Amino acid sequence: MDWKMFIDGDWLEAESKETILVYNPADYSQTGTIPRGRGVDVDKAVLAAKRAFYSSAWRAVKPHERGWLLYDMAKKIREQKDELAMWETLDVGKPLKQSYADVEAAARYFEFYAGMADKILGETIPVEPGLVDFTVREPVGVTAHIIPWNYPLQIGARSCAASIAAGNTVVLKPAEDTPVTALMLAQFFDELGVEKGVVNVVTGYGHEAGAALSGHKDINHLTFTGSVEVGKMVMKAAAENIVPVTLELGGKSPNIVFADCDLEQAVEWVVRSITQNAGQTCSAGSRLLVEASIHDAFVERVKNKFEELTIAPGAQDPDIGPILTEKQFNRIISFIDIARNDAMVVTGGERYTSGECMNGFFLKPTLITNVDPTSRLAQEEIFGPVLTVFPFETEEEALELANGTEYGLVTGIWTQNISRAHRLADQIQSGQVFINNYGAGGGIQMPFGGYKQSGFGREKGIEALRNYTQLKNIAIKFQ
Ligand code: NAD
Repeated sequence: MDWKMFIDGDWLEAESKETILVYNPADYSQTGTIPRGRGVDVDKAVLAAKRAFYSSAWRAVKPHERGWLLYDMAKKIREQKDELAMWETLDVGKPLKQSYADVEAAARYFEFYAGMADKILGETIPVEPGLVDFTVREPVGVTAHIIPWNYPLQIGARSCAASIAAGNTVVLKPAEDTPVTALMLAQFFDELGVEKGVVNVVTGYGHEAGAALSGHKDINHLTFTGSVEVGKMVMKAAAENIVPVTLELGGKSPNIVFADCDLEQAVEWVVRSITQNAGQTCSAGSRLLVEASIHDAFVERVKNKFEELTIAPGAQDPDIGPILTEKQFNRIISFIDIARNDAMVVTGGERYTSGECMNGFFLKPTLITNVDPTSRLAQEEIFGPVLTVFPFETEEEALELANGTEYGLVTGIWTQNISRAHRLADQIQSGQVFINNYGAGGGIQMPFGGYKQSGFGREKGIEALRNYTQLKNIAIKFQ
């Protein structure tokens, strides 16, 4: 399928007419092309969004009517769930049931923020007799959204829905590898008759379209989800224009397992949290911290589970699909090579090429023990189905290990001792803490974001609306 970009209510090629090929990571077959948008195309999209934001037509839309638009999006997403899930699997490679979960999460984002559209409230502030002081939360204007390749539908939906609910207009740039479902969202908006320019989707490479968007002087807010390295670049670009940014970056999230926990549950979630989307998840539970007294037994259980997992193209709905690209696969293997010398690979660590997996880059889930907590294996985001294990003796040691990386996105704590769980949650440096669960099925309502290098600002929940509103104080004197 040859896709076009959605700009100012029209479906356009790139000004240059150039395109980028899009592949199915399961077998490297070509699934279509997208326009190679660059600065000139980004300009068109941002100017369309700016025009739309100041247009009387968009200003006349009442908050609850913006809510109706978003409810209609949720409905459309559910109606088209099979097609959306199929494309998400074709683009990203993820198992079909995970794509269906992403489709439902996307619908839930639209639904949640639909309900919020007419509940963005200000405050009245007591100052002095004869003065009425109040605040209003206004939309910021044009919001730019640069999203990664691993959860394009969910992540595109989560920030655009919040932004539109608040009354902004948006320009979305999906990753060049996985653009299709973001374009399908644009298609749905188009079918619903959204005002021209309110929603724009520009495709292209990060260093071209992405860089042009993050440095554009006419955007008023930038939401970036992706790597730390690119996050720093977009933040610098936005700083030139004094544009606020929300950064959702990587992670090296721990599951902390105490001997008194429900072991069955803990094993299941530890495995799931590192193998979902083949470990290509920002909030993957990529470090297992386990109390020394159960270390060997727990590792054995995880190893057995890993070896039971099915590996196949996402369309066959296995447990694990392919790694997105050869480059990403080789990066993961380079970490496993380090482990072979400096640590111990308990299971996995090899490419899987059986049957229909011959042409894609599939990796057996990999369990690594005897890891030095200061090593690259322990500190860097590997972004694959690779779990590193660290024993601990005391709660203090567990805390030190948990907080001992530059990241701070999510932490899981597994224990029946509720006081200990609270003590740890209190001192953990991460944006989300899960006790006796992990990830909790997406948690549309739960604010999500990072401490330290995992970023700042919060997506999801009511909290995200802060990104997309600015506060005005109005003081009225009366006699
Ligand atoms: P990436 O940083 O390479 O790319 C993210 C997006 O930025 C893409 O759309 C890309 O085209 C664009 N981009 C690339 N270079 C750019 C530039 N110079 N200027 C502007 N935009 C540019 O990340 P990725 O490989 O797509 O995704 C993986 C990373 O994203 C991981 O680190 C993962 O942890 C992180 N991530 C974080 C979250 C979260 O919510 N915290 C969610 C998903 C992924």
